Amino acid sequence: MIPILSNDGLSALRSLMEKRPLLAFDFDGTLAPLQPHPEKVQLLPNVRQILEQLNERTPVAIVSGRARTDILRYFPKPLSFVIGNHGAEWSDRDEDEPDETAVARAWKAYLTPLLHGDAWIEDKAITLSVHSRTKDILDELYTAVDQALATLPPIRILPGIHCINIIPQGTPSKADTLMRLLRETGCSRALYIGDDETDEDVFALKDPRILTIHVGQRPSQATYVLEEQEKIEELLKTLREMPNS
Ligand SMILES: [Mg+2]
Repeated sequence: MIPILSNDGLSALRSLMEKRPLLAFDFDGTLAPLQPHPEKVQLLPNVRQILEQLNERTPVAIVSGRARTDILRYFPKPLSFVIGNHGAEWSDRDEDEPDETAVARAWKAYLTPLLHGDAWIEDKAITLSVHSRTKDILDELYTAVDQALATLPPIRILPGIHCINIIPQGTPSKADTLMRLLRETGCSRALYIGDDETDEDVFALKDPRILTIHVGQRPSQATYVLEEQEKIEELLKTLREMPNS
């Protein structure tokens, strides 16, 4: 991966910004530093402000694994798109829509009695994240999930950082989401930045329209890397200073 703040990275960003690209971001571990509990995560006011400024020039999207309402709290001034549940939740839920929550409810009912120690379930209505920072407990829960695959509604398991993401089969991935965002915005280019396994779906597309940046030091299929999350503000400032044509 090429460091995004290197000369090569900056020149790729410059030519991207000339095209009025869609700017899409994961949230936790990308725009805001990871915390042991998502409730504790804070977004720096400067980061929020630069995103708002960028959004005056070009569409900005947040694509998070959290519930959409949870992410909206961080953005009192709305951005073009705030999408939750790894790409499955584009707007506020409508009571008349078909119930997309049945699969997550069945899995929650199965997993809840198995929780112990520091394990807990983040219930995001459409998807679940089972969290534990204790490796043995997380391994145990992985085994429990495996054992129930044959009997409970079909899911996709996405390993996260200190968590297991449980996603009903057929739910759009972050990659599907980026494709839909490109269609809906009419943008010819996009930037996507993320730090987690769910972001690898976007990186794996290897779509020449999307400039991909992985945050952190783990291996990734992204083309570019931002090794330290703290540098996100510098990266956003750099984008802000680059002219659109
Ligand atoms: Mg993340």
